[in-house]
Amino acid sequence: MKTALDLLSFIEASPTPFHCVAEAATRLKAAGFSPVTETGTFGHEPGAARYCVRGDGSLIAWRGGAVAPAEGGFRLVGAHTDSPNLRLKPRPARAKEGYLLYDVDVYGGVLLATWTDRDLGLAGRIVVDVEGRLESRLIRLDAPRARVTNLAIHLNREVNDKGLVLNKHQHLAPLLGLWPEGASGTPRDVVIAALATAAGVRPEQVRGHDLCLYDTLPPALGGVDDAFLFAPRLDNQAMCHAALTALIDTPPGRATAVIALFDHEEVGSGTARGADGPFLGDVMLRLAGGDEPRCRAVARSHLISADMAHAVHPHHAEQHDREHMPRLNAGPVIKTNDNQRYATDGTTAALFRSLCADLGVPCQEFVNRPDLACGTTIGPISASRLGVPTVDVGNPMLSMHSIREMAGSRDPALMTAVMTAFLGGAR
Ligand code: ZN
Repeated sequence: MKTALDLLSFIEASPTPFHCVAEAATRLKAAGFSPVTETGTFGHEPGAARYCVRGDGSLIAWRGGAVAPAEGGFRLVGAHTDSPNLRLKPRPARAKEGYLLYDVDVYGGVLLATWTDRDLGLAGRIVVDVEGRLESRLIRLDAPRARVTNLAIHLNREVNDKGLVLNKHQHLAPLLGLWPEGASGTPRDVVIAALATAAGVRPEQVRGHDLCLYDTLPPALGGVDDAFLFAPRLDNQAMCHAALTALIDTPPGRATAVIALFDHEEVGSGTARGADGPFLGDVMLRLAGGDEPRCRAVARSHLISADMAHAVHPHHAEQHDREHMPRLNAGPVIKTNDNQRYATDGTTAALFRSLCADLGVPCQEFVNRPDLACGTTIGPISASRLGVPTVDVGNPMLSMHSIREMAGSRDPALMTAVMTAFLGGAR
């Protein structure tokens, strides 16, 4: 339960991918890891604990192996820092029918109906001009709260039979306040002034932003015997937390232990800091000390791609293959898809099953129904970019991509234990 409670505080500190990376960096520093920058020089140092951030939203951390990567290989765990949400447009506000609204775009596969009637805060990164230099600052505004407001059932009589249909352009702008006729200034001025105050600068210094709305209700334990976690962003901050905790707990081993927490998975990973970009490959190249030793290192390496998995839903069990139906609090899930939507194969699954067996951790299997479209992860992308054998795993959960998701409270400790053994070089 200690791991689960720590996960809840990690999520509470991480309303955006940028905050997730900042919180990871804070924890790494406290555990003796030191930052390196991509503009500097770095390479393999036995036992050294380091981390590197790209674009504020992705982070790679490692503990150097006792021998060089060409001899000891890499033990890698990958996860993603981003979650589907609503984000502010470049012109972040407008007025409509006497209301002040945030103007929002949709990031990733949001379960839109779950964003209605929630108390929304605003957080993320703003870029400010400080005496001619552009600087990124993280901000978090728990107030003023905004709201994507539902239409009363009296004005939408068929909603319970036909479902809540929300047009992404017309129906999602959250209400932030009132905007009476003849109000002074512009809606944009009001929002930019709030951002500037939060960042401790003047409004004219604000030059850019990447801002997300988030549910201000804190994560919580739920259910009889605290069986459940109710929290936003379990996909995939739960796996970021497991990877991070495992790396911090891992004593130095022969292999170089690496975790890679990537932004932009929910939109396909094809960005400078995403898993389909060169970030992890670049770090591995530098740690290996060149192309030839990197190839030797890759041939000795293994990757766990960790992303949350679909637990069976009691009202929709037919959506699962009955023989591959994960349950909450029953341990990590190995995800397999023969069409390589997941990177798992017989050998990589066997390694993960063996790690679980050695620890007495139960292990589950997930295969999507072949007549339904299967999701994917950073697993196949990383495997094809790096050439490292990869297994796709995750903890079971419900309500994936809802504003408030749900998982088991016993599973985080189990996955963390398996990752710790793996990063430490077991098997
Ligand atoms: Zn995910």
